[in-house]
Amino acid sequence: MPGTDFSLSPILFMLHPFPACILLGVPKKAEPWYAEGLRFECLPDCANCCVNHEDYDYVYFDGDDMAQLARFLDLTIAEFKERYTEQDEGETVLRMDQPQCPFLEGTRCTVYPVRPTQCRTFPFWDNNLASRASWKRLRKFCPGTESGAVHSLRVIRDHLAKHES
Ligand code: SF4
Ligand code: SF4
Repeated sequence: MPGTDFSLSPILFMLHPFPACILLGVPKKAEPWYAEGLRFECLPDCANCCVNHEDYDYVYFDGDDMAQLARFLDLTIAEFKERYTEQDEGETVLRMDQPQCPFLEGTRCTVYPVRPTQCRTFPFWDNNLASRASWKRLRKFCPGTESGAVHSLRVIRDHLAKHES
């Protein structure tokens, strides 16, 4: 019947009081190990993740990242690329030929409102969330993963989606 939402029908629910996945034989997708959420709070006066070290010395650009940074710094995109980026295996990345991000002053990010998606979504990245062990390893340099409020599964997935899009 047009306009009738059968999915909310209590009559149908009484007839079929089982989840659709059981009726249809569709296996329920396993929840990730972080289904209960994860603690995280970026700590002031840290900035460890803005400094070159081991696996974490690349900042990639997603979507409008570069355009927003260029606008914020009052540069054209070409000027921004020339001054702040380099090529790495076909990807444009932030030039990190110094021990830290060029936008870090002391422990302050000078482009914070328009920082790249990669920075905005840290530490909720695929590789950090791959297992409990990889999340624990992250504690070596990100003390924020041991403190702060719990970020729900929905929030974590939002971050993952932003980074993937
Ligand atoms: S390492 Fe973690 S706590 Fe430190 S600045 Fe980066 S996100 Fe914040
Ligand atoms: S852009 Fe800002 S948040 Fe990202 S690495 Fe540089 S200083 Fe850190």
